[in-house]
Amino acid sequence: MTDQLNDVFAVDSDYYRVTDYLSDEDRALAAKVRAFVDAEVTPVINEYWEKADFPYHLLPKVAELGIVGTAIKGYGAPGLTRLQTGLVAMELSRGDGSFNTINAVQSGLVMGTINLLGSEEQKTRWLPELAALRKLGAFALTEAAHGSDSVGLESTAELVGDEYVISGEKRWIGLGHVADVVIIWARDVADNKVKAFIMEKNADGTYPDGYHAEAITGKMAKRAIQQAAITMTGVRVPAGNKLALSKSFRDVSSVLNMTRTTVAWEALGHAQASYEIAVRFANERVQFGKSISNYQLVQYKLANMLADLTAMQLICFRTGALQNEGRLTNEQASLAKLFTGQKSRALCREARDMLGGNGILLENHVARHLLDMEVVHTYEGTDSMQALIVGRDITGVAAFN
Ligand SMILES: Cc1cc2nc3c(=O)[nH]c(=O)nc-3n(C[C@H](O)[C@H](O)[C@H](O)COP(=O)(O)OP(=O)(O)OC[C@H]3O[C@@H](n4cnc5c(N)ncnc54)[C@H](O)[C@@H]3O)c2cc1C
Repeated sequence: MTDQLNDVFAVDSDYYRVTDYLSDEDRALAAKVRAFVDAEVTPVINEYWEKADFPYHLLPKVAELGIVGTAIKGYGAPGLTRLQTGLVAMELSRGDGSFNTINAVQSGLVMGTINLLGSEEQKTRWLPELAALRKLGAFALTEAAHGSDSVGLESTAELVGDEYVISGEKRWIGLGHVADVVIIWARDVADNKVKAFIMEKNADGTYPDGYHAEAITGKMAKRAIQQAAITMTGVRVPAGNKLALSKSFRDVSSVLNMTRTTVAWEALGHAQASYEIAVRFANERVQFGKSISNYQLVQYKLANMLADLTAMQLICFRTGALQNEGRLTNEQASLAKLFTGQKSRALCREARDMLGGNGILLENHVARHLLDMEVVHTYEGTDSMQALIVGRDITGVAAFN
């Protein structure tokens, strides 16, 4: 197993041997995902990034990896541990952020919501197709006027006969313009509570009347996966498509608390890739007659990058262990996202600088990691919102409502 482990952490980016705590199963899983990413994703991703398109042809191979549905047990999902779920996110992100987002949305936000809030009948109906990637999912929470304060969302769902009629708009919804199954968070007109409703494509592949979604263009990050701006005007879904156990906005928080650590692991994956690229480049790039790794300032930067990377690893591995034991608090998850988001963003920027002008070329990958870290810093609760959640825990005072 040691060879595989060394391969997984090439360039010795596992300085404190945190992977000693992994089981053989954990290591084999990480190695399998890394092998897929290296062989299939890295060679093509820059081309797709540039044309703002996703290599959908690779999805059957992702399905074969047996990672979709991550921690969900049954329904065709692999029932990974939370630590393994993190390792998958780290390895996918080490290759490309959009690839990780596809899996994180499908497995965590979409399947996770259905698994948490769906009836047995609803789980059996949707989860196996999603786990096999025969259907793609989207998670529609954010609205143009309600991002950090999604609790104030304004989309509505009104029960009329045996259908819910949904109206409103959504923004930044990953794959919201192509997904087969869209989870729409809307306010139930009957009690003004936020609940989850599932909208599906028609049998002919079109969307129900009133649902209009367009990909947001002109993005500087996560370019391989598109997000949609959606308008919904009297979209009708069967009454049975309201997730049975969804009762209030508290359910949204439960889902996001469950997936937050995956975003921390995502940040770790970007940091690891950028550190490895910087070390290799520093050893190869000759200036003033020597490789730049000879210079004290470069070594100082590399040492600080490694210190931050190691701290991120320790946080992620520890949160994974706490999650496996069912002991991770929401605030601890927020701290993990806060810390890794900040440190990885800074590390990727330092790595980009170390490559000089070459750092802005897609072919050297580091710029893509840096730009994707801008999204990690913002989505699933911005850096500031995570700080406010931790701040509330420290002081007992909520600085936001
Ligand atoms: C690439 C991408 C993919 C996404 N995918 C999805 C998806 O699939 N589904 C989905 O539902 N959403 C998705 N989102 C939305 C994402 O979750 C939101 O962008 C995020 O919650 C922030 O909301 P906002 O962009 O409206 O920023 P705002 O909430 O407008 O924040 C702007 C700034 O104000 C700060 N701020 C806000 N309130 C406070 C406060 N009380 N105190 C201090 N500072 C504050 C924020 O920290 C931020 O710096 C995605 C976003 C991106 C960029």
